[in-house]
Amino acid sequence: MSARPHPAQATRHELPPTAGLPLRAGDLFSHGGGLAAGVAAQLGTPPLQLECSGTAALVVSLLALRELAPQRRTVVVPAYTCPLVALAVRRAGLELHLCDLLPDHYDMDPQALAAACDEHTLAIVPTHLGGRVADVDGALEIAREVGAWVIEDAAQALGARHAGESVGLRGDLGFFSLAAGKGLSIYEGGLLTARDETMREALRQSSARHVPASLAWEWRRSLELLGYALLYRPRGLRLAYGAPLRRALRRGDPVAAVGDEFALDIPLHRVGRWRQAIGAHAARRWPDFLAQTQAQAQQRLPRLRAIDGLRVLEDRPGDQGSWPFFMLLMPDQARRDAALAQLWQAGLGVSRLFIHALPDYAYLGDCVPQQDVPRARDFAARSLTISNSPWLDDATFEHICERLQAALR
Ligand SMILES: *Cc1c(COP(=O)(O)O)cnc(C)c1O
Repeated sequence: MSARPHPAQATRHELPPTAGLPLRAGDLFSHGGGLAAGVAAQLGTPPLQLECSGTAALVVSLLALRELAPQRRTVVVPAYTCPLVALAVRRAGLELHLCDLLPDHYDMDPQALAAACDEHTLAIVPTHLGGRVADVDGALEIAREVGAWVIEDAAQALGARHAGESVGLRGDLGFFSLAAGKGLSIYEGGLLTARDETMREALRQSSARHVPASLAWEWRRSLELLGYALLYRPRGLRLAYGAPLRRALRRGDPVAAVGDEFALDIPLHRVGRWRQAIGAHAARRWPDFLAQTQAQAQQRLPRLRAIDGLRVLEDRPGDQGSWPFFMLLMPDQARRDAALAQLWQAGLGVSRLFIHALPDYAYLGDCVPQQDVPRARDFAARSLTISNSPWLDDATFEHICERLQAALR
């Protein structure tokens, strides 16, 4: 394979791995709140509760459920998901159980899920990975049998819909992430809701009891958000994202490269008014941005489907996912790695999602059980992602497709 450099490399641009909404100067000088209310109105959800991260939203949820059913101790999650989910379960003082996946899929295997659940199960967490819509009904069925709740992890799926309705509402609770790189962002934030008003009241109480104000955290997040606003563009990302990525890969640390390494302690604090105002102002552009990225995905999917040996994870009929990036599976790890050798460090928005199945992160040793989860491991070994950022132009997309084709030959 000739390593013909792509024009983007000459211009020192760096594309982000996901389609995030860029901030504008006007966002930083806006007043007024209404972030949660604005997004709820756009999505057509019941009132949303703002927390300081998606992880914090999950912690608040779990603490609320714990109080409703103190005898239940375990939380069942897909074995391939964000390490923060494991840390949230730990922070809530609960025990993690992993569920292996369906073959070639991010969804939990219903049989494995049924086997993982019993009268000790507090919650099941189906996960809308990469903007795709997860099987919530399967989880609900099993949850009802054992008396557990379903929490939809829609951290990566703001704007995704099932049967016309926003994800997060079919289960008992649902949350979205407003972290950097996850679409609409206030650097760190989370939105939480529940179908029933009684549950929403329980969530408000849980938050009031467990989440303090913290000036120190809010200062830190405000500075980080300012940095994000300045650097989240093709030039700035070289410094903020590309350089650390390449450094981490050079020292053979892919976990650090994709940002899978998190502090064990989950901060819980209130979100300040300035960040809320920024989010609310930027959120006005979110529906158009979402529509633009969804249209771009639909336009590019046929090209990906036409690549022999490549599996693209798509929507099931009736689902309309959000498309922060394309999730792809190669036939085996060798070819996935061959493609990444060409593309991962090229600054073109090709990356990996989570590096490992949860049991394989050494730093999570004390909160993740050592279960055998071969399909989750297989998913980790064979998957890669292509950014669906609008900055990734047609020529660059074609260049990536050709590289993938070459790796598959
Ligand atoms: C990012 C993420 C979370 C946590 O959200 P934060 O806002 O980053 O705390 C939870 N679950 C999944 C699947 C995620 O990707």
